[in-house]
Amino acid sequence: MNENDIIKSRAEQLKSKIIKWGAWEVGFSCVSDVLPEGLKHLSYAITIVFRLSDQIINDIREGPTYTYFHHYRHVNYLLDQMALKVSNQLQKWGYLAMAVPASQTVNSAEYKGLFPHKTAATMAGLGWIGKNGLFISQVHGPRVRLATVLTEMPLPVVAPVEQSRCGSCDLCVSACPALALRGENWFPGIQGERLVDVRACSTHMKNAYKHIGRGVVCGICISVCPWGKKGLKDGVF
Ligand code: SF4
Ligand code: SF4
Repeated sequence: MNENDIIKSRAEQLKSKIIKWGAWEVGFSCVSDVLPEGLKHLSYAITIVFRLSDQIINDIREGPTYTYFHHYRHVNYLLDQMALKVSNQLQKWGYLAMAVPASQTVNSAEYKGLFPHKTAATMAGLGWIGKNGLFISQVHGPRVRLATVLTEMPLPVVAPVEQSRCGSCDLCVSACPALALRGENWFPGIQGERLVDVRACSTHMKNAYKHIGRGVVCGICISVCPWGKKGLKDGVF
């Protein structure tokens, strides 16, 4: 086997293992242009997509439920476990790799994590960023949580998604109780602030839902999105 065949076979092995662990989709991308300094050598990203429970998302109407908060935390935990196992396998093969935490804010002023999972997911051709500022999977809409593993192991990549498919829909914009969504369509490189007033969103969650997980979840702009309801029959995928 030449080097290319080895890489392809390892990527396939990873993908089938991740799907076996419960993920719904896996994507590969080259993210070297958008990585922060210090991580530039980890040019490739593996995106892991997990579909949230439709029953739990369907139950979000006026605000989050206790069950949604529990589900959110445990899906993040599962994604972290999957990403850890993947990075461990990559290291066994002799490559540097790092699992980006499923949910962690490292810049509290801008509510940003180490590296945006949604950027890697769009670059892996899996979907776009919606008017709600969330990753919208072409298959599952925003009803997903994501994990990312960065690595120096080359991966077979596909064309990125570079256009929003929200069109003239504005269901999330009008449903947002914080008036935090500005109604603009995403394109690669757009400043996040042009889509979402993150401070307004966060302040609303802290004030209105502090009895549920200290106000870090809401879910309304996930629940209303028609892309998340595609393929649902009687509320079930
Ligand atoms: S999470 Fe809630 S408050 Fe924040 S943008 Fe979505 S609907 Fe608005
Ligand atoms: S509800 Fe409509 S505008 Fe909002 S993310 Fe979904 S498709 Fe886009």
